[in-house]
Amino acid sequence: MKSIITKFLSVASAAVIGCSAPGSAAAVSFDYVVLDPGHTPRTPGAISAGNAPEHGFNNVFVRELAQALELEQIPYLISNVKNAELSLTDRVKNTGKRALFISIHHDSVQPQYCNLNTSPCRTDYASGYSLFVSKVNRNFRISKEIASKIARALRQSGLSPSVHHGEKIPNESKILLDHNGVYQYDNLVVLKNASSPAILIEVAVITNPQDELLARNPRHRAKIIKAIVKTLREYIGFER
Ligand SMILES: [Zn+2]
Repeated sequence: MKSIITKFLSVASAAVIGCSAPGSAAAVSFDYVVLDPGHTPRTPGAISAGNAPEHGFNNVFVRELAQALELEQIPYLISNVKNAELSLTDRVKNTGKRALFISIHHDSVQPQYCNLNTSPCRTDYASGYSLFVSKVNRNFRISKEIASKIARALRQSGLSPSVHHGEKIPNESKILLDHNGVYQYDNLVVLKNASSPAILIEVAVITNPQDELLARNPRHRAKIIKAIVKTLREYIGFER
């Protein structure tokens, strides 16, 4: 892990990473982004309508997001670069106050919305992206601000947020902080334990066959990644 940080910080030092876009003042600055592909091979998270584990979707997305950050010369490291059975605590161990932690996931719905005649769950009940922040995180305000800016960029790209996490039912009932799709979820372990600002992005609802198709579409992923990276580049400085 340390070698990865060193690698990208040395890139940073050679490439004037600290600039933000012309005409925009960076409100906050970081040394690097921690990209966290959610789940592990043995605990793969949600299962898609087409019977594929969420973990694979998360890995593909993080790999492409990492490539995009590299093109923008934004330093990063990946929490689980060896695709190991990493604990939630270990995922955040490199989040000092100079990091920005971004966990990548793909979403599902509560079991009552699944089609009982299909296995795995296959339903068009919910679709779209969503973002989460935790008020327990010591950098809640900055986390929320960054999440809102990314959510706005996703909206401006023509994408729609999912609304099902705000539903007043058990295991949902999250507080909608921003109509562009940012929710407060205080007990998400990686968000509350990160010692840096931290956000979690649900890229798509993969129990929905249409959303799964979008999640598998490289052009759709590129649109989401472009919105994320553009936001980081415009509003956040990256400095040594
Ligand atoms: Zn997940």
